[in-house]
Amino acid sequence: MESNRAKSHAARRGLSPMTNTDSKLRDLLGGVLEHALAHLDNLDNIPVAATADLSTLRRRICKPLAKEGIPADRIIDDLVSDVRGGILGSAGGRFFGWVVGAAMPAALAADWLTSAWDQNAALYATAPAAAVIEEAAGAWLKDILGLPSQASFALVTGCQMAHVTGLAAARHSLLAKSGWDVEQQGLYGAPAIRILSSSLLHGSFERAVRLLGLGLAQVHVLPSDSDGRLEQGVLESALQSNPSAPTIVLLQAGDVNTGAFDRFEAIIPLAKRYGAWVHVDGAFGLWVAATPRYRHLVKGVEAADSWATDGHKWLNVPFDCGYAFVNDAQAHRASLSHRASYLTHDAEARDEMDWNPEWSRRSRGFATYAALRELGRDGVAQLVDRCCEHAHSLVMKIGSLLGAEVLWEPAINQGLVRFRDPEPGASEEDHDRRTEEVMAAILSTGEAFFGGTTWRGHRAMRISVSSWRTSDKDVERVVNAVASVLKVPVAQ
Ligand SMILES: *Cc1c(COP(=O)(O)O)cnc(C)c1O
Repeated sequence: MESNRAKSHAARRGLSPMTNTDSKLRDLLGGVLEHALAHLDNLDNIPVAATADLSTLRRRICKPLAKEGIPADRIIDDLVSDVRGGILGSAGGRFFGWVVGAAMPAALAADWLTSAWDQNAALYATAPAAAVIEEAAGAWLKDILGLPSQASFALVTGCQMAHVTGLAAARHSLLAKSGWDVEQQGLYGAPAIRILSSSLLHGSFERAVRLLGLGLAQVHVLPSDSDGRLEQGVLESALQSNPSAPTIVLLQAGDVNTGAFDRFEAIIPLAKRYGAWVHVDGAFGLWVAATPRYRHLVKGVEAADSWATDGHKWLNVPFDCGYAFVNDAQAHRASLSHRASYLTHDAEARDEMDWNPEWSRRSRGFATYAALRELGRDGVAQLVDRCCEHAHSLVMKIGSLLGAEVLWEPAINQGLVRFRDPEPGASEEDHDRRTEEVMAAILSTGEAFFGGTTWRGHRAMRISVSSWRTSDKDVERVVNAVASVLKVPVAQ
């Protein structure tokens, strides 16, 4: 009654429905909690893949924008029903497409608070606690990833912007050595920066190269070994061919198909002998440093100049969250810092803007901080180990089904299988087609989500496990689902 009276009173005074009373906001957020729990509680029962098609989603979502505002609770109810069938099950344990982590409970909760607190984490002055949280999170991240403790860092949107951050510092440093102030003079007339890479480079690295004006033509993809890793001899002759050229060497810590790692211990010192800047793409793979079982794969990686990784993949922080680290803090800061007189810079505290490509930004540190505290050192190690075990079981069990084949047995959390056309004399194209067919059939069961890839000329189903939620039960359920798509028994 009271609230109705208040409502009509508000209406008489021409107040917009956005002027929530406290109890309205409480009801609204309480309702959101129920919606969120309904989604998370139901992950085991709803299809992992989309069930609504593009035209359905458009029909429901692309409404005309009304002249008048709408009460918040109705907007949320509409939102929840309009997106039905268009939310993938990536928060659950049976999502193995691309490399997509779920969200640790504390990280999800801290992410909600981040929105409620609504801080602008540009400077210490605009969000003091957020600046200190990032300070703490950055130190923990370096520690757990085995990176130099004096390295500077930035919490960015993802590995994409971590590449941009690392390469901006590289560009500054390499050109400064040639007496060129790139921030002031730009790239017009600057010496070209050569970029040497294995064949495993990710598209996000190429986009960083484009954004920074380095130019894709400068990227030399070197012939790599059978696992796609840079070979010492090949890299050395490339470096020797123009020993004084400013050079970036891109190395891979876990590529998206097979999780391959470059041999950092041998390659980095070699690149450094020629004055190259070594940048490491470790979007998910860098996290193996957290566990004694896999740490050997990143041996020597700490000698690089910059590293890019993600929080939203293996650390299971909600999207979006990535991390850039730069050994030469001065180069990092010089490439991004902006000093404007109207801003209140703090001499002692961390001003994120000095290290981040963004200006106003979300305080991304809270969720990272929460995930790391919830897991602890042991928890991160166990999360990585567990994902690797599950990836191995999935690939080997699916690959042993009649009509399936293991293309890549996981060394970490990434593996590949394909499906063979049973017809006698079937061609490679037939196997490719069969692989696509089976993958589509698996998706339509709603039991699991896998992505496809082309690997060494074959279509393959990629299996990536990065969710803290994936369990033995999930693995069993998914293997059963694939077996029933193939109409074959599961080997005991
Ligand atoms: C995911 C990924 C990227 C891109 O990271 P985003 O977080 O999506 O920007 C880069 N490199 C590798 C190896 C990846 O797996």
